Amino acid sequence: MNQERIVIERPIVVLDKVHKSFGSLKVLDGVSFTVERGDVLVLIGRSGSGKSTALRCIDRFEKIDSGEIRVCDHRVDAADVDLRALRQDVGIVFQSYNLFPHLTIEQNITLAPVSVKGMKKPAARELAKAMLAKVGLSEKLDAYPEQLSGGQQQRAAIARSLAMQPKVMLFDEVTSALDPELTGEVLKVIERLAADGMTMVMVTHEMGFARGIADQVVFMHAGRVHEAGSASILSGPATPELAQFVGTGL
Ligand code: ADP
Ligand code: MG
Repeated sequence: MNQERIVIERPIVVLDKVHKSFGSLKVLDGVSFTVERGDVLVLIGRSGSGKSTALRCIDRFEKIDSGEIRVCDHRVDAADVDLRALRQDVGIVFQSYNLFPHLTIEQNITLAPVSVKGMKKPAARELAKAMLAKVGLSEKLDAYPEQLSGGQQQRAAIARSLAMQPKVMLFDEVTSALDPELTGEVLKVIERLAADGMTMVMVTHEMGFARGIADQVVFMHAGRVHEAGSASILSGPATPELAQFVGTGL
């Protein structure tokens, strides 16, 4: 008999009816979405709709008021969540490149693997080289952040996150602060990561890019998931709000 092994894989990220307020301002109003292993979820929506807050809740930079968040095996909303373990599994890159200016690129990348994971320095240097090769910056190992262009700094920030071997990467408008000619090189790195099977949640205003890379698009509006589906919702929005956002009118 042909015995098939049924492997039920759990999603990497689950948000279930997440609520979050800052004082009297309701920012997340029952947000739910799920990201399967290897998938790319693109979060879109106008400024103030709650995208960054949703991302920050996944990494527990913000604590939610109610609902549930699970990331790999972590119950993120639990009071006793192991933040160190959670943040090893979740890499996050923001709009402003947050490299340490007084450290070389190598030191930026090896800091966490050495201090958090206890990696030996020579092994960490090799790791830094490998991660920089992934983002096309092999020659910048000994440079300081200020010697790099904005696009290169963002790529180095991505390499630094990857050095912790995260299971999911969160990107929050990582190209928004860049000149248009530098945006492409950063998006290319993200595209390659996706092709390599990295699970990601990404906030971006680059709609063409989103169309190409997203397995799932989630449109947030006023703290809610207003519309969600495959990238095709960008071409055929069902709600006037998404239509207006993508500029097609409805
Ligand atoms: P987006 O990323 O979609 O632009 P945000 O999640 O950054 O939206 O913000 C959603 C709303 O929450 C905004 O009105 C913003 O001003 C507010 N907000 C975000 N962070 C805080 C905070 N730490 N304290 C108070 N208000 C906040
Ligand atoms: Mg934001």
